[in-house]
This record gives sequence, structure tokens and C-alpha cells, in this order.
Amino acid sequence: MTLHQNLIAGEWVGSNGVENINPSNTNEVIGLYATASADDVRTAIAAAKQAFPAWSRSGILERHAILKKTSDEIMARKEELGRLLAREEGKTLPEAIGETIRAGQIFDFFAGEALRLAGEVLPSVRPNIGVEITREAVGVVGIITPWNFPIAIPAWKIAPALCYGNTVVFKPAELVPGCAHAIVDILHRAGLPKGVLNLVMGKGSVVGQAMLDSADLAAITFTGSTGTGKRVAAASIEHNRKFQLEMGGKNPMIVLDDADLTVAVEAAANSGFFSTGQRCTASSRLIVTEGIHDKFVAALTEKLKTLVVDDALKAGTHIGPVVDERQLATDTDYIDIGKKEGAKLAFGGDTITRENPGFYLQPTLFTEATNQMRISREEIFGPVASVIRVKDYEEALAVANDTPFGLSAGIATTSLKHATHFKRNSEAGMVMVNLPTAGVDFHVPFGGRKASSFGSREQGKYAAEFFTTVKTAYTLA
Ligand code: NDP
Repeated sequence: MTLHQNLIAGEWVGSNGVENINPSNTNEVIGLYATASADDVRTAIAAAKQAFPAWSRSGILERHAILKKTSDEIMARKEELGRLLAREEGKTLPEAIGETIRAGQIFDFFAGEALRLAGEVLPSVRPNIGVEITREAVGVVGIITPWNFPIAIPAWKIAPALCYGNTVVFKPAELVPGCAHAIVDILHRAGLPKGVLNLVMGKGSVVGQAMLDSADLAAITFTGSTGTGKRVAAASIEHNRKFQLEMGGKNPMIVLDDADLTVAVEAAANSGFFSTGQRCTASSRLIVTEGIHDKFVAALTEKLKTLVVDDALKAGTHIGPVVDERQLATDTDYIDIGKKEGAKLAFGGDTITRENPGFYLQPTLFTEATNQMRISREEIFGPVASVIRVKDYEEALAVANDTPFGLSAGIATTSLKHATHFKRNSEAGMVMVNLPTAGVDFHVPFGGRKASSFGSREQGKYAAEFFTTVKTAYTLA
């Protein structure tokens, strides 16, 4: 079996590899992927540091061409890369191809941004002096990504980092090295000078920790759990470097009496259960007013009965497996907690077997939940959602905002008044009206508030805030 190596200082290196296992069929090994040591990480950071002066001053046409070529190859290979993604992460093939297309679009967007770098020229408050405000690259950027979007999240961090002239050391989640390796290979062949982009696969406790411990990373952008995010923050403060965190969510979806029932059920089914509920923007709290509660629960339950849980590659599968055994144990533990807390199990709750051994779980719906239960306060990150019954819009808004998190929030209503009020008063970074809480565009800001995020927004032109630093220059005329 081919060993997929790390890319350090422009060379593919590494001899020991770990197996990348398909969660839809644990008998299937997708490939062997090298694991980096802490020393490898230090070598990669040194290479990125050496490559920085030339890359940060490289021509914008060179950066544009490399990012565009990368986008074109990802788009041309979307079926093959989507298949790899579905096999290693477990989301369905259509979802995986969609995510791959998203990665291609992101590289295309930042290829364009490379040609649109701009600054400001202002007169000084003092006569005969001009002021120029420019954005410069930050330095060597460490990129640490989670397993749930194996190609899109690396793309939305790597593309802007390179676009604005930074060099990169990239550590993907250990569970999904396949897509990470594939996009680094594409970028490398597209013509990146050696050392500009380094890939260090392996365990967070070794590879990620060596990145946190380095004084030579000028910035770290991280997506993952709140616990690891706090470690990234503490280490970054210690080293006086820039950091950006995207972490968990406990996203509410309000359904009001006046909602279009079909729209509400489609939005809740999509954002609660698709991608196996393993999206930081998933709706896990369905906050429903009394007048529509019973109709909504009945219709959502009917919808859940129609969803097929099976192998991610099988045509007709709506929900693939949970990503691994550990996450499955977390999901089933929370289902037990929900039952003990007194929530009513309205649908699902059990693991299921399929043709091949995999981590299959029924979509699970609790009703009669309260917002104080652990299943309503803690992120589960599986296909598990709870319905919380409320009296009216005012109570729904209060419950929606009563959470440590603030990533995404939705409302299903036909009332312009309530939709407008919710957009203004939701304490989330992203608000959806009559749409699933998950599913966002690539050209506009992504991010949340409270415990969900820290630092400036990702994606679109707002990404420049993190991946550049501002310089103010004064010149006597
Ligand atoms: P983790 O925080 O465990 O892992 C995220 C990344 O950090 C992985 O690459 C991991 O490596 C690495 N890591 C782990 N320990 C360390 C360490 N000590 N130092 C440096 N890096 C480390 O999260 P998961 O990958 O398990 O992802 C699931 C979580 O991420 C959920 O809570 C989810 O909500 C959140 N998430 C948030 C998103 C957002 O945009 N807000 C998007 C996606 C996920 P390794 O894999 O090798 O352990």
C-alpha cells in the first residue's frame, strides 16, 4: 500500500505510516499516511521561515496563477476527491462532492483576491506629509484543522494564507489525512516554491503541540473543539502571536406558530441530521412554540423515518456513519444522558448494523427537553437534536440566546416582524431565516460569538484581517 508522506521544505518525507480507515466499512483501509515527529514540525517551521521573505514579496500574478491552477485541478477531480472524502470522513457522496466543489471555489476566490490587494492613501494632519496604509503578510502561519470538513476547512485557511503572502505549516486532523494530502500535493505541483507550504500529519498531542510550542509561528488559525482551542489561545498568548479560533456550537432553530411547516421541517432535518450532525453549525436545539409544536414533531418524525442511514458511497444514503468509534460512544452517551435527564425519546436512539461493519447511528430526536439539560447545553456533534417547547416568540428568543455558544441561529416564520427582530437580537455570528443553520456561502464572513469563536472572521474578504498585518507609513513630501 502506498505511503503518503509529509511535505517538508519541498520534499516528500516520512517512513512510518498509520492506516486511514473508512467509517462506513472498517475493514477497508484507504491508505497509509506518515506521521510527523516534533522534530519534523520544527524542521517544517524553519523551512517556512526561510521561504517567507521571498514568498511575501512574490508577484501577485504568481500567487494568482498557483491558486487558480489549484482550483482548476480540484474542480476537474471533484468526483474522485469527493469519493476520497466520503470514504475517510463518512459524509454522503453528494455532500462530499459538494464540499470538494466548495474548496475549488475558495481557491478560485482567493486567486482573484491576490489581484485585488489594496491599501489606502491619506493626507497627514500635518502639512506636506502623506500617509500610506498597507496590508502585509504576517509570517509563518500554523493551520490546525478538524475532521468534519476535511477539504473545505483546510482550503479556507490555506488559500487566504498563501494569497496574502504568508508561508504555512499545516496539520490536518489525524482521522482525515487523505484530502489534506491531496490538496497539498495539488498546490505543490501547481508551482509553490519549496518551504512555502508544509504538511505535517499526525497526532494533535505531538504534531499540534509542537506547533503551539514554537516561538517561530507568527499566527495560528484553529478549528476544532473548545478544549483544544483554549490550549491554542494560552500558548499563543505565551508566544505573543496572533490566533484565530473556530470552535463548537449549540445552535438554536426557532419554529414559530406562523411558520411554513414544510420549510421548518426541511430546515430542521437538514441542519440537525445531515452530515451525520457533525457540523459546528448543526441545529441541535429546536425551539418550538406551543401552537405548532405537536404538528412539527409529528412531521419531523415522519421525515426522519424516510432518511436512509447507510454506507456513505451508496446511492440513496441520506446519512452516513459517525466518523469513528470514539465519536459514536460520545453520541450514545449523550442519548443515555438525555433519557436520564427526563427528555422523551421521540425517534431513533440506537446504533444499527449494515452490510459492512461501520459506526451507524439512527437520527435521534428528543422532545420535552428543557434548555437546562446537558443535552441542550453541551455540544454532542452527532445526529441528535432536542425539541424545547416554548410559549411565544419572546420566550423562544430568550432560550435561543441562553447558551454558552453563539455560532449560528435560525428561525422559521412567515412574520417579517419576528424575522427582523430575530436578525437584530440573536446573539449568534450567523443568522438564518427559513433556512437551515448549516450551509454557508464561501464569499462572506464565517464565524461566531461567545465560546464559539475568537478573533476575526474567516472567509471572503474578511479573511484579510487575520492573514495580514497593517502598516502605516508617513512620507515627507
Ligand atoms: P479537536 O479539538 O480534538 O481537534 C481539532 C484539531 O486540533 C485536530 O487537528 C487535532 O489533532 C488538533 N489537536 C488536538 N490536540 C491538540 C493539541 N494539544 N495541540 C494542538 N493541536 C491539537 O476537535 P475535533 O477534530 O475532534 O473536531 C470536533 C470539534 O471541533 C467539535 O467540538 C466541533 O464543534 C468543533 N468544530 C468547530 C467548527 C467551527 O467552525 N466552529 C468546525 C468544525 C469543528 P488530532 O486530530 O490529531 O487529534
